[in-house]
Parts: sequence; C-alpha cells; structure tokens
Amino acid sequence: MVNQRRLIAHVDMDAFFASVEQRDRPDLRGRPVIVGGDGARGVVAAASYEARRYGVRSAMPAARARRLCPHAVFVRARHAHYREVSEAIFEVFAAHAERVEGLSLDEAYLDLGPFDPAILPAAIGRRLKQAVFDATGLTASVGLAGTKLIAKLASDYDKPDGLTWVPDETVQRFLDPLPIRRLPGIGPSTAGRLHDAGIFTVGQLRQGPESLLSQALGRQAGTFRQRAAGIDPRPVDDRRVRRSISQESTFSEDLHELAAIEEVIRTQAAACARRLRERSLYARTVHLKLRSGGFSTLTRSQSLDGYTRNAETVAEAACALARAWAGYQSRIGVRLIGTGVSGLEGQPDPGQIL
Ligand SMILES: [Mg+2]
Repeated sequence: MVNQRRLIAHVDMDAFFASVEQRDRPDLRGRPVIVGGDGARGVVAAASYEARRYGVRSAMPAARARRLCPHAVFVRARHAHYREVSEAIFEVFAAHAERVEGLSLDEAYLDLGPFDPAILPAAIGRRLKQAVFDATGLTASVGLAGTKLIAKLASDYDKPDGLTWVPDETVQRFLDPLPIRRLPGIGPSTAGRLHDAGIFTVGQLRQGPESLLSQALGRQAGTFRQRAAGIDPRPVDDRRVRRSISQESTFSEDLHELAAIEEVIRTQAAACARRLRERSLYARTVHLKLRSGGFSTLTRSQSLDGYTRNAETVAEAACALARAWAGYQSRIGVRLIGTGVSGLEGQPDPGQIL
C-alpha cells in the first residue's frame, strides 16, 4: 500500500490572552490591550492587535510597551481562566481531528486524516474555525498543508482570522520568497550568519551552495535545506503531552516567613533545573503555586526573556512571584509550595538562551 498523504492543520488563536480579555470585557474591544506587565520588571504576556500596531509584542518589557503605546489598557493575566478556555478549544480540536499535538494553550497541529481529493481543504478549515468560534467566541488562524512545516507557516500567513491552504504544487512558490527567519529553528544568530553569506530568503537557502550552508549552519545544514524545499516528514505527535516540570512540597504546619518560603523555592528551582539538564531541555516560563492553610491555591507564572535551565534564574523568577504575592498579604501562611517550569524546548536558538 502506498503511503497515504494526510491533511495537516496548524491552528493558532489570534492574540489569545488579549482576545479572551476583550471577549469578556466589551469596554476593551477595539482598544489596545496589553496582558501582563505588572510591576517594574514585568513583561508583556500578550498584546491585542490594536496594541501591536504600535510595535508592542509579547515578551517585551512592560516599560517599553508603555512607552510605545501610552494609552494602552494593561490587564492582569488570568492564567487559570485562559487554561479553561484552552480546554474548550482543545475539545473542538479533538472532535475534528484524528490526532492533536498541542504546542501551547492556544496552538496545535491537527492530523485531519488521509487527504481526500473530493473534499476541499478550505471547507474543512472553515468548519474548524467556525466550530472554535461557536465554542469560545474567539477567532483562530488556520494553516492547511501536507506537512507540519507548511501548515505552521500558512497559519501565520494571513493573521488574524486567517485561513490559508497550501497545496503541494504551490509549496515552493509559497516558501521561496519568505525571509529565512521564518523557518523554525533559524533564530537571530543563525539568520545573521546566513545574511553574512548573502542568503536572505528561503529560496536562496534552498539553492545556496553546499559549502556555504554547512559553514553557516553546521551539522544542521541538511535538515534546513530539506525544510527550505518544503520537506518535513514529522507526523502529528499526540503522545507529546503538554510538558512541564515541577516540584511540590506540603508542610504539616504553615510557613509564616517569606524567607522560609524563598528557601523552599530555591531548593525546588534547583531540582527543576537539574531535571531540565537531565532531559536536555530549556524552559521559557516559571510557575509558582502556593496554598494557604485555608486551602485557597494561587498559581502565578512569569515568562522569561529567553530560555533557561539555570537554577538561579528559575529561583529568581519564582521568588519574585512569591514576593509580589506576599506584598498583598496581611498575614503569610503557606501550606504547600510548588515551583515549576514549562514552555520546554530542546534546541532554542543560542541567542535566546539566558
Ligand atoms: Mg496565538
């Protein structure tokens, strides 16, 4: 039997956190909304399209975002709420796809089954977008193609509320003019080396001389040349669970001192960092969970400016979350502490490693 081609979608919600806030609060609609960015050292977790027009981007320091768009409305991130909305979205994905590979709360690859020439992929995509909208009131951008690589690039092609289908015959025409930075795995420093070699577009990368490519890309030259030709054999992998690493400790009596809490966090951060190194991973986001003796549980997270597996960096971020929390408490009493990391990545671009 011949290897049957499959239709793959990449679905990415549009400005997810910001769109949830605009959905829930009509007064925010049509206005520049920035989620996150609490405090002097805060970073932007998400920006609405109205804010992006001013150059505001996620992971940008909040102070910079404020300078770029002084009239933006800053909204505190409600991660537990976004997780609930995400669950509804993934239920829709599960109903439409044979396999779902979640990449984050608002992004996934969907294996839509064997390619059926009798059904227009665009019609499948429209149904999927409509189902997501019906379930959540939010728009998604969908890319459809025969590979994950092209599906992902396609979902970004016409954002927001986009639907882009790239048939095999047009893959090369779609890829060639794109800047090399758009290929997954090519970060700023790799792009810099390629630019120095006179390679700016995916088409130039595909046709570039072997010697030049191996000089700029090293052992990965072959893979990138394949990707530049639109070749990507990776299947949609639903075994990949939403990954995170965390450590929790419960105490028989409440801890009342911030210093004691921070000490526990440092030990847990060191354990998380050790497990990241053991699994050859880096993390982008640090989480802190605190439960009081009264059993109310608080979870907070902080995205970093890059990827880390450094115990001190994880501890600093988690301790900062604890200090911010403590600042609002009249009396500290903590029964459970959990420190964790997510946004795990095996090979972040070297320029993004903290
Ligand atoms: Mg998104």
